[in-house]
Amino acid sequence: MAARDTLLLDQGYQPVKVIPWQRALCMHFVGKVEVLRDYDWRVHTVDCSFAAPAVVRLLRKQVARPLHVRFSRENVYLRDGHRCQYCGLRPGPRELTLDHVVPRCKGGKTTWRNVVTACVECNRRKGSQPPEACGMRLRCVPNKPDWLAPRLLHLGVDAVPEAWRDWLH
Ligand SMILES: [Zn+2]
Repeated sequence: MAARDTLLLDQGYQPVKVIPWQRALCMHFVGKVEVLRDYDWRVHTVDCSFAAPAVVRLLRKQVARPLHVRFSRENVYLRDGHRCQYCGLRPGPRELTLDHVVPRCKGGKTTWRNVVTACVECNRRKGSQPPEACGMRLRCVPNKPDWLAPRLLHLGVDAVPEAWRDWLH
């Protein structure tokens, strides 16, 4: 279950991957990471208990290695922080859609650079026009993300723990 996993950040606060909370706790005990946020449940051992780590950060710099990020609906939502890229609102997961910035009928491709998260309302308003044709503006230029936890690929939007969201955008 996702809310029992821990989000691992690099020294610069960028998400690296998702690891089991047990591993995060071990890394904490040996001084490899600091805990930035706890879950509200605790881990009990025979004689003590610890808050379960939700987000941890590596204390030492790691050698950067480029990760391949699979293009998918969930990953576009994650890249955009579950936020509509036109109006900036963060509606519930059911109100999120994917929008082709350059519409498909005008040759727009289904790629990281041409697909953004949009709320149902903005998507409807935009229809099959480019944003400038209807007075809409993107909040930022869509790009291919250079991070991603392999296990996040299998998580639905609902499964991303609230405790991680500050670090996923
Ligand atoms: Zn919107």
